[in-house]
Amino acid sequence: MNAVDSLLDARDNPDWDSGTAELGHVLKPGKLDLSHKVILYLEDITVTFDGFRALNKLSLTIDAGELRCIIGPNGAGKTTMMDVITGKTRPDEGTVFFGQTIDLTRLSEPEIAHIGVGRKFQKPTIFENHTVFENLELAMKTDKRVRHSLFAQLDAAASDRIAETLRLIRLDTHGKRLAGLLSHGQKQWLEIGMLLMQEPKLLLLDEPVAGMTDEETERTGELFLSLAGRHSLVVVEHDMAFVKQLGSKVTVLHEGSVLAEGTLEEVQADARVIEVYLGR
Ligand code: ADP
Ligand code: MG
Repeated sequence: MNAVDSLLDARDNPDWDSGTAELGHVLKPGKLDLSHKVILYLEDITVTFDGFRALNKLSLTIDAGELRCIIGPNGAGKTTMMDVITGKTRPDEGTVFFGQTIDLTRLSEPEIAHIGVGRKFQKPTIFENHTVFENLELAMKTDKRVRHSLFAQLDAAASDRIAETLRLIRLDTHGKRLAGLLSHGQKQWLEIGMLLMQEPKLLLLDEPVAGMTDEETERTGELFLSLAGRHSLVVVEHDMAFVKQLGSKVTVLHEGSVLAEGTLEEVQADARVIEVYLGR
């Protein structure tokens, strides 16, 4: 379920309002405590599937505004880690802190999306029969803060935000096109744009450049670099040219734990990393 879907679900769920009332202290904008400059802190996360440890005492810290790449062989637990952060999978053990005070393991998927964690899946979940502009408009209107204006005219500020996002995702000349007619790469950018309309603090991107042309991949790298700082990004990717372009700190996952961490050059020179991943 992506952020838009989970918000749409949440909006239609009668329990949502009472649930959020109880969580009011958590959900109020501006309550994310970044005083230690850490936006995400996973500590000793273990997830087992039928006795198999997909995550094994995984600990990871992401700084506010940081861009982090996660690499590792298939089955290392990268997607499971994102499932835990977004509330899709509950860990058997461990904690996940968003800022200093919010324990994500106690929140539901829609609540986690609502407090500012956006997730992009490999397969875009855009509305193909709507225009690019309408897709962004819809993503914004699922935001509870603007819910009262759901059927009202878009105000100037909202139109400006959509125009700004269209520029950012390089679709400013495609606003009136049906989303279904975009290229694969453009559809991926549109979904990122839809996530951005929710103003996420943290963006999780699972293999975002899979299937993209080299040019689209490079443009996606430029987009991520421009988002870092304002947002924190955790990017899972196998494409080493792309990881190199991002130039960020790299975490190598293996068998559900962190095997190595450092610059791409450092982890590429690490004998253990070469053995389990890069050398194959
Ligand atoms: P990655 O994304 O790094 O390739 P995953 O997180 O998808 O790895 O998977 C980690 C391990 O957990 C794999 O061995 C996978 O088969 C297993 N796994 C993931 N999800 C489930 C599930 N829902 N049920 C059973 N096993 C799962
Ligand atoms: Mg995966």
